[in-house]
Amino acid sequence: MTNAVYPPYPPILTQAEQEYLLTNLKDWSITHGLAVRPTSAYVAEDLDPARALATTAPVTLFPSLFPRSCFDQARAVSQAYSELYSAIAADEEWLGEIVKELLEIDDFIENLWKVHLAVKKEGYAQSLQLGLFRSDYMVHVSDSDSDSRLSVKQVEFNTIASSFGGLSSQVASLHRYLHSVDAYPEVTSLLINDASLQSSGSVPQLASGLAKAHRAYVKSDKPNRPACVLFLVQDVERNVFDQRHLEYTLNTDHGVRTFRLAFSRVLQDTSLGHDRKLIYTPPSLSGKQWEVSVVYFRAGYAPTEYNSQRDWDARRHIERSAAIKCPGILTHLAGSKKVQQVLATPHSPHLARFLHDKSAADKLLATFAPIYPLDESEAGLEARKLATDPQMAQKYVLKPQREGGGNNIYRSEIPGFLQSLPKTKWPAYILMEMIEPPTQGNAIFRNGEVQSGEVICELGVYGACLWRDKVENGVVKGRGVLENFEAGYLLRTKGAGSSEGGVAAGFGSVDSCCLLDL
Ligand code: ADP
Ligand code: MG
Repeated sequence: MTNAVYPPYPPILTQAEQEYLLTNLKDWSITHGLAVRPTSAYVAEDLDPARALATTAPVTLFPSLFPRSCFDQARAVSQAYSELYSAIAADEEWLGEIVKELLEIDDFIENLWKVHLAVKKEGYAQSLQLGLFRSDYMVHVSDSDSDSRLSVKQVEFNTIASSFGGLSSQVASLHRYLHSVDAYPEVTSLLINDASLQSSGSVPQLASGLAKAHRAYVKSDKPNRPACVLFLVQDVERNVFDQRHLEYTLNTDHGVRTFRLAFSRVLQDTSLGHDRKLIYTPPSLSGKQWEVSVVYFRAGYAPTEYNSQRDWDARRHIERSAAIKCPGILTHLAGSKKVQQVLATPHSPHLARFLHDKSAADKLLATFAPIYPLDESEAGLEARKLATDPQMAQKYVLKPQREGGGNNIYRSEIPGFLQSLPKTKWPAYILMEMIEPPTQGNAIFRNGEVQSGEVICELGVYGACLWRDKVENGVVKGRGVLENFEAGYLLRTKGAGSSEGGVAAGFGSVDSCCLLDL
């Protein structure tokens, strides 16, 4: 049934047509920074010891088809999602109750929470916070024949290091360019045309979010040194060009100075000055100093990045500082899968607490796929039955409180995995119904090779949100939203047979939407 959603696509190319398309794709991509550093499996480390090479990011040859109604639906809820998650991050009591359930069974969450408690004790030095969020969806096909046969269901909501905004704008431009130079055969013109190809404003919009936070800081905190935005990055970062697009736009369009700082160097290269202002001293610029307006986390979201107490000290150092954090630690915690589950468990009463506008809340509700706890609540016990039954488990995915890909357990592997785990650890996971998006044909160019076949797509919609926390007696109780706008989209596409979709994790590709009225 699901295979019939899309028309046959893409056309089969002659060898000459494919060569023409690929030559254009490769040259355009490198010229425009639609690029990544190669994996060592593709270019051996001894051939590129300085890690100076770049290669085309994994991309689809054709823009994938995507139902226009679903695209519109996902964009329409973007601001409400930012509203929701900023409200959760500003409701310490509610969030604390959820975190409490995880403390003893999840070290990482426990350590994040401890950082919050430590900073809370002396008082936060900054009440402004920036969220550059991304809400991810897949198309769900319902059995009913009604108008809403196709809708989007949310895979997850990212509150930290939401990546690929830089490359997403580029891949949409790439597909438009390929169309303009006739790389797509004439027969596709009913599908691929100027009206159906969808640009993504993610680069200008995400950069604008950072620039707005920077300006808000300059206005309210009156820096007495030049101010900069600090991109906090991983030591080895393949996806550096994705981040560079945002840096260059901040530089060119907003006149905002940016620096890149490896998470491992935070304590060496930054210090806290008067009023806990974060001072950055770049080792390359002989003693010159900048005051950090915004710390933009593109690192620090995975337990593997915290190898010693020093790494936790670095996280606390930043959280203590007066820089605006993107995100702050409560916002990071709000993005945990457990929060998503608490909101999306059928009949959950929680959404109404945060979204008072009933029609906005209903629109969000319609994007939730069923998610269950694995604790000893009624819903949890029911979920345990599903997860341990080899037949029933086929329809589910089991997720820990982690980000960044490669952590989930899928379908038939769930019962065996749970059996290998003490029951006391089960509540650290959530059980989510698999969304089964319709497949279509496409071809992915990755590591110099083309792979054609059936693919599935995941749409991400970015949102930028700047707010000011209200603190009463040392506890965060609510916030005032200063900016909230949708910030472009991302389409990621992977082989229909693969469970994970991470581009960086090595399973997927970046893509753009060719919208289709279905
Ligand atoms: P992470 O935080 O590691 O990115 P996700 O929840 O996004 O975790 O899961 C990783 C990938 O697994 C997704 O990009 C998607 O391809 C797949 N996936 C996760 N949940 C579902 C689901 N409910 N239905 C279908 N695929 C899913
Ligand atoms: Mg994800």
